[in-house]
Amino acid sequence: MHKIIDGKAIAAALRASLKPEVAALAARGVRPGLAVILAGDDPASRVYVRNKVRACEDTGVRSELHALPGDVAEGVLLDRIAELNRDRTVHGVLVQLPLPAHIAVERVLAALAPEKDVDGFHHENLGALLAGRPGLVPCTPAGVMHILEHEGVRLAGRHAVVVGRSNIVGKPLALLLLQNDATVTICHSKTAQLAEITRQANVLVAAVGRANLIGPEMVKPGACVIDVGINRLPDGSLAGDVDFGRVKDVAGRITPVPGGVGPMTVAMLIANTVRAATRALERT
Ligand code: NDP
Repeated sequence: MHKIIDGKAIAAALRASLKPEVAALAARGVRPGLAVILAGDDPASRVYVRNKVRACEDTGVRSELHALPGDVAEGVLLDRIAELNRDRTVHGVLVQLPLPAHIAVERVLAALAPEKDVDGFHHENLGALLAGRPGLVPCTPAGVMHILEHEGVRLAGRHAVVVGRSNIVGKPLALLLLQNDATVTICHSKTAQLAEITRQANVLVAAVGRANLIGPEMVKPGACVIDVGINRLPDGSLAGDVDFGRVKDVAGRITPVPGGVGPMTVAMLIANTVRAATRALERT
């Protein structure tokens, strides 16, 4: 059985499932609010931000865009975060990455109020994930887990291989897979014999940023292949890290790019914002 996973449909269903919670908040006079900070004018970031803002409207979440110039001083950005941390109408604050090179990303992420850190990148939220405690989980890894759950992919006792070890995708995803009782291997640019390892995977996740890195010879027949990568090809089209055209005939299930993990990331951001608003109300 070869199945192409429809991330757009799964994301739409997830967003629809949030509507009752949004309605319950509205009944108590609360509209979830998300503030998105965009520094500079990276074209890809602008597209991502636009998608996020649009998805908010669609789900009844209020969004505000804070566009700052590319040469914004770090102090100005930190002051803006402090204001948003205090703003009771804002439940989620997201800083679109990458930031301009002169800004220290770790200082910026540390400045976010952990309870408003809907991207889940603050060390307190990453620490909670490591310790298996409740917190806000990074959106892309959470989106991948939602896809696996939706597709009924069994994880307990099975081998999950994650290619990529970034703090925002690879590492948190590996922790989530581990929490779900998979046996997890993390690969990266120094991994020797990558193909030998990926071929053992029942669940293979590519989060690298290199088009066509994962070819059919690297995939176990019947495996579930999740492609997180987003790569812009010279002709302007988008491609994942997986050679989709050839791997789809080997994999049991596979996500396309676009239309796979990307829409799930946005849906999870909205889910985290709604959750943050509900928790904020519970605290009052
Ligand atoms: P990073 O650049 O931070 O990390 C890439 C990882 O891939 C690193 O761990 C690196 O290893 C590893 N790597 C690089 N080359 C190889 C190789 N030849 N073989 C094996 N591993 C390799 O990227 P991100 O984690 O931020 O993003 C990964 C991809 O996912 C990108 O394409 C990005 O655009 C996309 N993305 C998609 C999202 C979505 O919503 N769909 C959201 C976020 C990201 P090392 O650590 O050794 O350098």
